[in-house]
Amino acid sequence: MKSGVLSIALYPGTFDPITFGHIDIAVRASQIFSKVIAVVATNPAKNPLFTPQERVEMAREALKNVPDVEVISYDGLVVDCMREYNATAIIRGLRAVSDIDYEFQMAFTNRKMLESAETVFLMPSAEYVYLSSTLVKQIARHGGEIGQFVPDCVKQRMLEKVAV
Ligand code: ADP
Repeated sequence: MKSGVLSIALYPGTFDPITFGHIDIAVRASQIFSKVIAVVATNPAKNPLFTPQERVEMAREALKNVPDVEVISYDGLVVDCMREYNATAIIRGLRAVSDIDYEFQMAFTNRKMLESAETVFLMPSAEYVYLSSTLVKQIARHGGEIGQFVPDCVKQRMLEKVAV
């Protein structure tokens, strides 16, 4: 199949937790690909605040109104997930130049493992360029307002989590 209009794209990430920046990219991707699968990577090396199950639940709730987007969790290589779901593209969000080194490394490594794996970089709306899950967690831990960065469902879970 010709890649592009009719193809399936994976959108892998830690999503710890999902933010308006992630959602912005998912919406843009859904306008390009026929189906987008947000893949919550278990990623224990990153020591996530939320369990994979919690991250999936929040992402599902946050993306429920975005057409043609579904959310799964996956414990394995992105290229194996691509094979399993017949995906041809990997979506990644690019914020600043500082993202590029790491993203290039991953994109070329994924292509080495699966030649057909194309990584597609999308830029968020300017208001989300400096937004990251890490920042949101730091603000929440110090009692700051996070409602402008994450949807309500995430805000509630975050408040419960940091209160423990
Ligand atoms: P990872 O650990 O794989 O980087 P993240 O959950 O931090 O997982 O990010 C997943 C993807 O979403 C990455 O491509 C990242 O660049 C992108 N992303 C995260 N926040 C934003 C944002 N504010 N704007 C655009 N893309 C973003």
